[in-house]
Amino acid sequence: MQDCIFCKIVRKEIPSQIVYEDERVVAFKDINPVAPVHLLLIPKEHLANILDINEANAELVGHIHLVANKLAREAGIAEKGFRIVTNCNKEGGQIIYHLHYHLIGGEQLPNFA
Ligand code: AMP
Ligand code: ZN
Repeated sequence: MQDCIFCKIVRKEIPSQIVYEDERVVAFKDINPVAPVHLLLIPKEHLANILDINEANAELVGHIHLVANKLAREAGIAEKGFRIVTNCNKEGGQIIYHLHYHLIGGEQLPNFA
């Protein structure tokens, strides 16, 4: 999508700290980290959020989980623990409307309801 900031990261039109890339997914460091490890995992395909996941593309979510698994291990936070979050729409706190999964860890994270 032309004006989407995460599509621009996928196309390397704006700088980012990419830590992983394959044919379907890019992972990069969040520009405003909330914990020592804070990565964003995104599909290269522009999907607005989890509501755009359907029967035809659901396998992508499994792939993103595999990448999250790998990156958490590589970051050294797998055993201690980490969190994966995807925000959806306004009340879910979504700011950027390109599907992304936050991978957060490296310290004790606060519990939430
Ligand atoms: P969300 O509220 O789930 O839509 O979160 C959007 C996230 O994208 C926030 O954690 C931002 O810090 C992050 N972010 C925004 N712009 C960039 C960028 N250019 N590079 C890396 N992370 C970004
Ligand atoms: Zn996009």
